[in-house]
Amino acid sequence: MSNNADNIIINRAETTKIDSVDFENLTFGNIFTDHMLICDYKQGVWEKPIIKPYEPFLIDPSAKVFHYGQAIFEGMKAYKDDHDDVWLFRPDENYKRFNKSAARLAMPEVPEDVFIEGMKKLIEIDEKWVKTGMGNSLYIRPFMIATGPGVIAAPAQFYRFMIILSPAKSYYSGEVKVIIAEHYSRAANGGIGAAKAAGNYSAQFYPTKLANDLGFQQIIWTDDATHTKLEEAGTMNVFFRINDTLYTAPTSERILDGVTRKSLLDIAKRENINVEVRPVLVEELIKAAENGTLQEIFGSGTAAVVNPIVGFSYQDKYYELPKQENSVALQLKQKLNDIQYKIAEDTFGWTV
Ligand code: PMP
Repeated sequence: MSNNADNIIINRAETTKIDSVDFENLTFGNIFTDHMLICDYKQGVWEKPIIKPYEPFLIDPSAKVFHYGQAIFEGMKAYKDDHDDVWLFRPDENYKRFNKSAARLAMPEVPEDVFIEGMKKLIEIDEKWVKTGMGNSLYIRPFMIATGPGVIAAPAQFYRFMIILSPAKSYYSGEVKVIIAEHYSRAANGGIGAAKAAGNYSAQFYPTKLANDLGFQQIIWTDDATHTKLEEAGTMNVFFRINDTLYTAPTSERILDGVTRKSLLDIAKRENINVEVRPVLVEELIKAAENGTLQEIFGSGTAAVVNPIVGFSYQDKYYELPKQENSVALQLKQKLNDIQYKIAEDTFGWTV
């Protein structure tokens, strides 16, 4: 693989916006740091990456990203420990998933040095934007779009890979109530559900809005063919605790292979929590809710680590979950956060 990142072109901003940012009152994903990384792909060749001031750029109106949706992204975070060292969490997992998404969307794979070394260099330059303290982080958004022109439905010849950074506070979404999907689907067999493709997210907006209008924050997605298997919660993987066992669906063509999900599974196993990775049926969930064995439901993802769900609706009936004194979701979140912020020893070797 080429060594594009060896000589990243660096064009530093003359001023910084950091003093105008209220780090105590950040809304997620709204503010971006002083710099961004750009790497263009032209007819088979990746050019040198450039780190330059964050700013808008020009793009041809016929670029295929606008017409055929060739766009993929990743989401990950950098954390600062009490010694002011900055840590990434399993960046190789996001790198691999990015290129899986690229392949599925007929886009070129991004070289590892551009993705990983470019990211490290960019974060080093904007390092002041990573604040210490539990809950503070820098959200990292690598993405790629088809910049090649032409309103012809075929893969582009030109692409742009970019990384932008956004400071984040710990994520609290308020009480989350969900609806179990009975009609709409997030993904289908043979589709692009396992890719972080932009279109997967726009396709969720409308059914999610319908759920919001009914007073629910998210949808628990079910399999497209039968709507009987529970698959993801909003834009997160989903876990269920029935009695003392945690259940989550195996990843598939329809389910994103979440880094948080697989990390929580490893931590749960280490903590001797019973876990079962297998399809979870709507029917089982209703039964467990009715007989009082359903303890917890939570989403897992980079933004919030875990997102506890307080209740769900299915076929117009609402089921409330019991209040937890000793939530397994929050215990697992704490353990994962302790590794990410270097408070506990990283026995898994996940932090970089
Ligand atoms: N499922 C979907 C559809 C997602 O968009 C995300 C967020 N990337 C996740 C699951 C969780 O993945 P991760 O733990 O890697 O953030």
